[in-house]
Amino acid sequence: MIVILKQGTTQKEIDNITDAIEKKGVKVNPVIGKELIILGLVGDTSKIDHTQIEANRNVEKVMHVAEPFKKANRMFHPEPSIIDVNGNKIGGNKIAMIAGPCSVESEEQITSIAEDVKKSGANFLRGGAFKPRTSPYAFQGLKYEGLELLKKAKEKTGLPIVTEIMSPYDIDKFVEDVDVIQVGARNMQNFDLLKELGKTNKTILLKRGLSATIEEWLMSAEYIMAGGNENIVLCERGIRTFETYTRNTLDLSAVPAIKKLSHLPIIIDPSHATGKWWMVDPLAKAAIAIGADGLIIEVHNDPANALCDGQQSIKPSVYNNLVTELRLIAKAIGREI
Ligand code: PEP
Ligand code: MN
Repeated sequence: MIVILKQGTTQKEIDNITDAIEKKGVKVNPVIGKELIILGLVGDTSKIDHTQIEANRNVEKVMHVAEPFKKANRMFHPEPSIIDVNGNKIGGNKIAMIAGPCSVESEEQITSIAEDVKKSGANFLRGGAFKPRTSPYAFQGLKYEGLELLKKAKEKTGLPIVTEIMSPYDIDKFVEDVDVIQVGARNMQNFDLLKELGKTNKTILLKRGLSATIEEWLMSAEYIMAGGNENIVLCERGIRTFETYTRNTLDLSAVPAIKKLSHLPIIIDPSHATGKWWMVDPLAKAAIAIGADGLIIEVHNDPANALCDGQQSIKPSVYNNLVTELRLIAKAIGREI
């Protein structure tokens, strides 16, 4: 349920209405914008009599939110959210460019790729330290040593770190060392992990699950937001379909769908979506053209010998050309890289 208040309602009146509603056992989430004052009601609203709320002279109207996600809902927050990662914004006019290898392999590897992608225009560094591999015999990542190497690359380049968390036990370490905590596709519905991340105030990059619907994905965002952490960036990374030519099927329609349903920023991962390095370029361009707020792209200096996902990694020179061309598309739609 959302309550829209009349323009000019004073803070005291807002507080009175909030208190009256919260006495009925639901939480009120206020959004005070230039044009609109919205009170979003979160929790069990079945005991709320909307006619009673409508009787208040400051209330413009009361609306029911049909969707099960509330805090992530655009109705609660009509303006698109801009997430601030130590001054680097995700969701505004500037497009977030996250780039780096699938996995951190060595100090030399991660720092040289970080330096290259930074020169090309990347503003975040990705690199997995804890890898969710399908096979237990495949490279599992350098783990805590990988985090240390990411910090060294950050020291050299200033690029904020984006890396995946696998276990709730590592949250304190990630809060300390990492700028954006990635929740991978395989953990999108690890609700205990989501709940714990909701208690932090770190930016969470929430990847869409392998077979998750858009509503299930937004409900996972809601888990984190319900705990109080509203710093969430969604990432479409391809979903399972009957098609086997590509690793997954990139659901580009998720971008306009999320923009309609939610205020959260959404970025695209064309690397995991396709599993083919030569498809990264055209799909990255399509993503920017349709309004994605950023891209996360796997870049490796030696894809043929990468310990993970070499087949979908582009070389730094290819990334450089891609960013040059993406700047033109961004400019054409009034955004910048
Ligand atoms: C990754 O980004 O390295 C990764 C494992 O992605 P996903 O969770 O989308 O498969
Ligand atoms: Mn990968």
